[in-house]
Amino acid sequence: MTSSYGFETLSIHAGAAPDPATGARALPIYQTTAYVFDDADHAAALFNLQTVGFIYSRLTNPTTAALEARLAALEGGRGCTVTSSGHAAQVMALFPLMSPGMEVVAATRLYGGSIQQMKNTYPKFGWAAKFVDGNQVENFKRAVTDKTRAFFIESLCNPGGVVMDIEAIARVAESAGVPLIVDNTLATPWLCKPIGYGATLVVHSTTKFLSGTGTSMGGAIVDSGKFDWSRGAKFPSLAGPEPAYHGLNFNETFGDMAFTFHSHAVGLRDLGPSQAPFNAWITMLGMETLGLRMERHCANAARIAAFLEKHPAVAWVNYAGLPSSKYHALAKRYMPKGAGSVFTFGVRGGYETGVKVVDNVELFSHLANLGDAKSLIIHPASTTHRQLADDAQVAAGAGPDVLRLSIGIETVEDLIADLDQALTKAAA
Ligand SMILES: *Cc1c(COP(=O)(O)O)cnc(C)c1O
Repeated sequence: MTSSYGFETLSIHAGAAPDPATGARALPIYQTTAYVFDDADHAAALFNLQTVGFIYSRLTNPTTAALEARLAALEGGRGCTVTSSGHAAQVMALFPLMSPGMEVVAATRLYGGSIQQMKNTYPKFGWAAKFVDGNQVENFKRAVTDKTRAFFIESLCNPGGVVMDIEAIARVAESAGVPLIVDNTLATPWLCKPIGYGATLVVHSTTKFLSGTGTSMGGAIVDSGKFDWSRGAKFPSLAGPEPAYHGLNFNETFGDMAFTFHSHAVGLRDLGPSQAPFNAWITMLGMETLGLRMERHCANAARIAAFLEKHPAVAWVNYAGLPSSKYHALAKRYMPKGAGSVFTFGVRGGYETGVKVVDNVELFSHLANLGDAKSLIIHPASTTHRQLADDAQVAAGAGPDVLRLSIGIETVEDLIADLDQALTKAAA
């Protein structure tokens, strides 16, 4: 697929040529565990990674491979590995880079589940996560030690409204000799392509906007193919002898596809978080309309943010698309087509009012997800962040007055009317 095609063309055609075996125009769901070898020599070559092909669906599958090709094309990357969830993608992104004692420097503004994963579960692998305020780029520089193996940020940060200076952080990563990993879930490649700003790896929860319908879990790691893994002898899994493949050196053998080959041949093989072909198929279907949906998601969110900012029951709105936002300039630079559709706002009256809003919405669904075609709302202090102490809730942007919205693609007047009636009832 020519990468000079436009975004909408690639999001429909990349990875999905007619099926060579049957001519089927739609992508087939290859619901198979294994693949017949031509003969013993073919099997041996496949197992030695001397020829490319399918062995077993924990490693590769034609339907998930189609999704990998499409995501690599849309992000402007060299290769891609899809996984069972966004969280699995984060572990898989760090797996070839880290070893016991090594550190990842991450921005504090991350999806709550990612902070949890890094803080509480990574130490069980012997990995350490250092969190820094990503708004000050120098914080990344200060946190670097000889054990640092990656930086991790979100482009447009969950719970929304915050944008990172990707290019500046990528420059610090470059001078530290480590890759920058960017979680691009909330922005999607339609709004922002982090590789163009110097990111080495882009991770996704495809569960969200990419599949777009709130039906299917999935994750992805897109590799830029631009990082020299032999640099500084920091990444022996990628640029040293791999014992599992007779001492094969992935960097020497596969060049700019080293990370992606390693992710399949070692990561998926040994950790096992493979994406189901059916989920990949649903995600491919969703991605055909990604551009159309994102356009509407962003337009609806901009209208609703402006409406809320003027509402008497609302204390503040944190949406990077609003001129009042301190992230407005960064949003204009990194995501000029729109500031996404996930953001927070605060109600006057605190916790009690916040709970009443979620109890009174009719069209919005009260649940813990985002990036659905349907509009969603959650009151973090009474749900996702209820285990945190009061000050920790505030630090995480989840204070008692905070509501998070994920604006869907419904008729915007209906969404405004629903929020208006719920806010009016809650404030009464
Ligand atoms: C949801 C989400 C994740 C985790 O993805 P899952 O598919 O739920 O595992 C990671 N990062 C961000 C920004 C998310 O919104």
